[in-house]
Amino acid sequence: MSISENCIAIKKSLPRHVALVAVSKTKSVAEIMQAYDAGQRVFGENKVQEMEGKWQEMPKDIEWHMIGHVQRNKVKYMAPFVSLIHAVDSERLLKEINKQAKKNDRVINCLLQIKIAKEDSKFGMSEAAAKTLITSEAFQNYKNVSVVGLMGMATFTENEEQVRSEFKELKRIFDDFRSIQKKLTIVSMGMSGDYTIAIEEGSNMVRVGSAIFGARNTI
Ligand SMILES: *Cc1c(COP(=O)(O)O)cnc(C)c1O
Repeated sequence: MSISENCIAIKKSLPRHVALVAVSKTKSVAEIMQAYDAGQRVFGENKVQEMEGKWQEMPKDIEWHMIGHVQRNKVKYMAPFVSLIHAVDSERLLKEINKQAKKNDRVINCLLQIKIAKEDSKFGMSEAAAKTLITSEAFQNYKNVSVVGLMGMATFTENEEQVRSEFKELKRIFDDFRSIQKKLTIVSMGMSGDYTIAIEEGSNMVRVGSAIFGARNTI
């Protein structure tokens, strides 16, 4: 199937409350335009400068999501346009996003990345650290960021039960945090290989790359 057919089929298969982020990292503008022409408007990238280049070249009604790990010195390049930053994993990063958002006279929406995978390689905050942050006084003073939810990545494994239990864990943390902070509405979990499990466990935003665009180009 073509990129536009994949995109339409996946979109159609999702329950209505689940948002689709089409993960376009490494893909060309021409490839991304095929999904755009199929009606997709939300795209996810994991490198700030690659996303900035695509933002400059592509239609301005696209919402660009930063889904990857972010270095603080790169925040300034996306602050003028990014619509959601998924992987905020420290207060220092949140503070820098707040600073750059303020310079651009914007409020930038963010998700806190929670470490749910058992692997060492995945970034993210512990539940306790995230809770300390959202209940801190400093947090209330970051007026140019809005933390609107949580994001997580499951362990890369064939073991479906493990993946399911990690998603369940993130949903439990989300429900708990929501009782403290009503602004939390997004739980971003699920990728090409596991988004159906993530949705069964309560995801309302999935980040799907290869199932739409095919295998990643290596650049
Ligand atoms: C690349 C990436 C995805 C999409 O991965 P696929 O398996 O191609 O769907 C989702 N989330 C994050 C954080 C990624 O880096």
